Amino acid sequence: MKNHLRSSEPSLDTQAVHAGREDFAQVGCHAPPIDLSSTYPLADLEVATESLEALAMGAPTAANAIYSRLFNPTVARFEEALAKLEKAPEAVAFSSGMAAVTACLLAAKQKGGSHVVAVRPVYGTTDHLLSSGLLGLDVTWTTADAIAEALRPETALVVVETPGNPTLSLVDIEQVVAQAGSVPVMVDSTFGTPVLQNPFELGAKMVLHSATKFLGGHGDVLAGVVATDEEWGAALRHVRVLTGAVLHPLAAYLLHRGLPTLPVRVRAMQAGAQVIARRLTEHPAVERVLYPGLPGGDPQHLVGRQMRGPGTMLSFEVRGGHNVAAQVLRELQLITPAVSLGSTDSLIQHPAGLTHRVVSPEARAAGGITEGMLRLSVGLEDPEDLLRDLESALDRATLLLDDSEPLAAFG
Ligand code: PLP
Repeated sequence: MKNHLRSSEPSLDTQAVHAGREDFAQVGCHAPPIDLSSTYPLADLEVATESLEALAMGAPTAANAIYSRLFNPTVARFEEALAKLEKAPEAVAFSSGMAAVTACLLAAKQKGGSHVVAVRPVYGTTDHLLSSGLLGLDVTWTTADAIAEALRPETALVVVETPGNPTLSLVDIEQVVAQAGSVPVMVDSTFGTPVLQNPFELGAKMVLHSATKFLGGHGDVLAGVVATDEEWGAALRHVRVLTGAVLHPLAAYLLHRGLPTLPVRVRAMQAGAQVIARRLTEHPAVERVLYPGLPGGDPQHLVGRQMRGPGTMLSFEVRGGHNVAAQVLRELQLITPAVSLGSTDSLIQHPAGLTHRVVSPEARAAGGITEGMLRLSVGLEDPEDLLRDLESALDRATLLLDDSEPLAAFG
């Protein structure tokens, strides 16, 4: 970016193209350079020791690169870019979204105590990690409007996910932050993306993404990232150094390479999702469609206030439950039955049988995650082609099942 453009804050679209590339002229490159070094030559022992101190204080720079688990310039450039997109001072990248979730929980435990307040729904494995006892955390599950009552003196973190996976329910972040008081709030914003919402601006302390999804965007990278302030950035780096859950520089390169198209990808997918959600409500085989852009889909009116659009993800429930849902997946020709989301191509999956299978049946039922529910991640295909595929699969699945024996369970 030329200097005269620095006078005012560039827009998200401009940041997506240029952020994390500020040193390119100095480095002499035009695409993100990939530094695969696992270790770095030490100029001098005293200087290296000072660098370790700087890293421990959470101030990593290329000048104090020592070992790639501690600092890698390719990873740092992606982190710099993501921090800018999330309007946060720092970002810390991890080897997967779950590594990022784990780091947030461990950092909070070390800083604050072993009690966590969490709001369902969250991604199934996040739910499982919290419920499992693996990290030695005591977890209170509650609803977004009852967080204040769930807090204890030893509460270290409040965990919410918005939009929530897989029901697309929205949580009012400002309201959660107000209730949490001095307790930090972590928002899993994977479904929101920095294009549609910036929870850090609304008071969230940590904004988490499974970067495997929209940030990667092409279905070829596993990664996680947390945007946060300097204090929590240092705490998360500390956990990352100790646990080794680092992002590989090749993955960081792919993520950084994909960021310039993130805003156009998300907006195009969102336009498709709006068309598909509306039309699915008219299909006789569909019981209900869950999408914040539909009438009644956003009772708190957070789209417009908290989100810059209703998003690219939707879920729908077919009449006939599990067997019809399983048959729809078999009948689809264009849309790929697969877990994950945010890719250029559309993906569909069955939350009760797959991503949320690890959630207790009671919690699934309470959260409305039914056997007939399918979750669709709308890709960049023409929405009319996607609708043709969905409508014909729904027609065929219901016809077939009307006059046949119940089918075997999927997955
Ligand atoms: N958070 C959300 C909302 C997710 O959907 C996922 C994965 O599907 C994760 C976290 C975990 O991310 P990863 O699969 O990159 O570990």
